Amino acid sequence: MSATPDPIYTLADLDTWNAPGTSLAVLGHPIKHSVSPPMHNAALARMALVDPRFATWRYVRFDIAPEDLPVALEKLHARGFLGINLTVPHKIIAFDRVAALDPAARPIGAVNTLLRTPGGWHGFNTDGYGLATAIREDLGRELSGAHILLLGAGGAARGAAVECLQRGCASLTIVNRTRANLDALLAQLAPLSNGIPVHGLSDLAASAGVPSEASAKEEALVINATSAGLKPTDPLPVDLAALAARARPAGVYDMIYNPPETPLLAQARALGLPASNGLGMLVHQGIRALEIWSRAAVPVDAMRTAVQAAMAAR
Ligand code: NAP
Repeated sequence: MSATPDPIYTLADLDTWNAPGTSLAVLGHPIKHSVSPPMHNAALARMALVDPRFATWRYVRFDIAPEDLPVALEKLHARGFLGINLTVPHKIIAFDRVAALDPAARPIGAVNTLLRTPGGWHGFNTDGYGLATAIREDLGRELSGAHILLLGAGGAARGAAVECLQRGCASLTIVNRTRANLDALLAQLAPLSNGIPVHGLSDLAASAGVPSEASAKEEALVINATSAGLKPTDPLPVDLAALAARARPAGVYDMIYNPPETPLLAQARALGLPASNGLGMLVHQGIRALEIWSRAAVPVDAMRTAVQAAMAAR
C-alpha cells in the first residue's frame, strides 16, 4: 500500500487492505484526474463536526482496469467498504454485477454509486439527479415541462435523456454526429417516452432546425453531453448563433467542467444566454451518493469549494 498522502491504490492493495474506520472509494481507469476524493473528504470533515462517527470515514481512489472490475468489486465487499463510486469505463460494466438495482437506474443501464448490503452491492445512478439539480441551481430551470435539445448519444447523454423523460420534459431532441449511435439511443428511449415527443438529428445545421415543439415561442434548453469542448481545438457541438437566429435557447448547460469555459459556453455568454459548466452536476451527483451512504445531510458548499480548489491546484 502506498504511503503518499493522496495515493492511487490498485487491485493488489486490496489483498492487504486494513485501513481503520469506514472506507469509500472511486474506481476508474484512469483515475489520476478524479476530484472525487478531495470533494468527499471535505464533506466528511465538515460532517464530522456535527457527528463524530464521520471522523473515521475516508474516501480513496483506485485505478482498476475494466477486466479487473468484477474481482475488484468482490474484494472491496469482502474488505468491508461501505460505498463505491464508478467512473469511466466502469459504469456500464458494473450494471450487470450488482445484487440489487435502484429502479431509477434500470433504464439508464449504468450505475455510478454502489452501497454495500450483506448480499452484495446495491446499484444507483445519481448522475441524472445531479444534472437536474445543477440546472435548477445554476440556470433556474426545471427539466420538467422544458423543451430539451440534448447534444450527444454516449453514456452521459443516455442518463440525461432518461432523466428528462422521467421528469416529464415537454419534448426531447437529440443531436449526435454519428447516426448509428443516435439511432441506438433512440431505440433504447422508445419504451420510456410515455407520449413525450422524442426526435433525433445527426446534423442540426443541415436540418430545418429544432422540431416544431421547441419553436421560437417555446425556447429550448440546450444540454451538451458530448465530449466536444474538452480540448480547445474541438469543434462546437452546436452553433448557438445559428440556433438563436431561429429560436433563442432558454439556457445552455455544458456537462464539461474542465476546462471551466468551453467554446460552447464562451459562445453562449457572447450571445447573452444563461449558461453553466458541469461542475454543479459533479457536486450534486456526489452529494446524492454521500447521502445514500451516510443517510445524513451533506454540505454542498464544502464539496463545491473542495472541487474548485482541487481543479485550481492542477
Ligand atoms: P462517451 O460515452 O464517450 O460519449 C461521447 C459523446 O460525445 C458521443 O455522443 C460522441 O459522438 C460525442 N463527441 C465526441 N467528440 C465529438 C466532437 N468532436 N463533435 C461532436 N460530438 C462529439 O462520453 P460520456 O461518458 O457520455 O461523456 C460525455 C461528456 O460528459 C464528457 O465530456 C464528460 O466529461 C461529461 N460528463 C460530465 C459529468 C459531470 O458530472 N459534469 C458526468 C458525466 C459525463 P459520436 O457518437 O459521434 O462519437
